[in-house]
Amino acid sequence: MKFGGTSLANAPRIKNAARIIQRSSQENKVVVVASAIGETTDQLVEIAELAKKGDLERARKLLNRITLSHLKIARLVAGRGDTRELVARLEQLSTDLERTMEGIAQLRELTSRSRDYLLSFGERLSTPILAAAASAVGLRTRALTGAEAGIATDDNFGEAKPLLEISYHQVHQRLEPLWTRKVIPVVTGFIAATVEGSITTLGRGGSDYTATLLAAALGADEIWIWTDVDGLMTADPRIVKNAVVLRNISFGEALELSYFGAKMMHPRALQPAGQKKIPVQIKNSSRPNQTGTLVSANESDNGRKVVKAVSIIRDVGIVTIIGSGMMGAPGVAAKVFQTLGSNNVNVMMISQGSSEATISCVVARRDVERAVRALQLALLGQGYVDRIAEERDACIIAVVGSGMKGTPGVAARVFGSVARKKVNVRMVAQGSSEYNISFIVSEKDGPEAVRALHEEFGLGTK
Ligand code: ASP
Ligand code: MG
Repeated sequence: MKFGGTSLANAPRIKNAARIIQRSSQENKVVVVASAIGETTDQLVEIAELAKKGDLERARKLLNRITLSHLKIARLVAGRGDTRELVARLEQLSTDLERTMEGIAQLRELTSRSRDYLLSFGERLSTPILAAAASAVGLRTRALTGAEAGIATDDNFGEAKPLLEISYHQVHQRLEPLWTRKVIPVVTGFIAATVEGSITTLGRGGSDYTATLLAAALGADEIWIWTDVDGLMTADPRIVKNAVVLRNISFGEALELSYFGAKMMHPRALQPAGQKKIPVQIKNSSRPNQTGTLVSANESDNGRKVVKAVSIIRDVGIVTIIGSGMMGAPGVAAKVFQTLGSNNVNVMMISQGSSEATISCVVARRDVERAVRALQLALLGQGYVDRIAEERDACIIAVVGSGMKGTPGVAARVFGSVARKKVNVRMVAQGSSEYNISFIVSEKDGPEAVRALHEEFGLGTK
């Protein structure tokens, strides 16, 4: 089971998590994965940026805040016998963190490697605290980093990729013996290390991924993700008043949803679970008796609803490659995506008209400028591309449901309902999985489009 940052945000919540672990471990063998406490990772990102600018004064203030709040929580949750050792460990980590921050400030340089090292402190601080809280309710625990638990990655710092075979082997070897001794492993989410031992991160929100990797390695029966909401919803409840929690969804649908803005799970986290068909239960740690959302290989109840959820992903932009010379010229698309890829621009949506005179790509808004520049350098002046256009005011609307596959008329209903609200659609894509139709509207039209679709497909409470 994995506890997200909000489920560990303060001493009472950590004690609550410890009780959940206690209850579940009576009848199950459990591995616990901890995120950083509350917003710690965001604060560490800020410290990294401040240090890079040389603003040590503000960086230090933030660091002190992190240290003090962790120490305070530690004293409140640890059992008497454990407090001193825990506090010493946290202080050591805090000193390490301070040195890292000073090193960055000294060089005014923040590499992706040093950034990962700095971000790792969030989970390295939270994990021993959660382990101590679980000990305080009578459990035997052992705090481990992702690397100590056996997860090895490549050296793509910031978004490292787990080396599955060796990770699975190592995790099995290291965690099974703990279980044999009735010790519950409590593992840092989000972070791992290269084979050489440099600390890496799995990308923001990566603790889910840690949990599914460990589960796959150990052949777990279930994965429980404890979070601060009741589960995945039919739409963002801040946009749609009558949005409801989805009881069951399939891996395929969850993947589309997490990719398209439901910040419920790290998109790659579903891979190990899906591959090994391990059901993932998403649950609210403050209301553990609520059913939550079950993500599984089962698609049986999809017959009833063609569309299951509507999501929105904001802060994107469109980059369009325009050139009449592209018609019938093989290799242009390859060049486009290769250029974007090697400049680290993630492409979220693609469309090409059949006239072949334009190719449009949707990317994160912060990447638009980099994408345009890279494409200009790579493509202009060679006779087939005339110009690269950009549009920054955009958001993606994604309509998701495996029942859409092979059902005629869904697209007509999707675009009909949006058109009735006078919302203009600028770009459309349908993945060939047919689990999703996604399109682009302007940022201000986004919420209205989501509401129209939610209504059209009868997703909410009546
Ligand atoms: N603490 C990390 C983050 O905020 C990982 C996680 O929460 O899953 O991104
Ligand atoms: Mg988090």
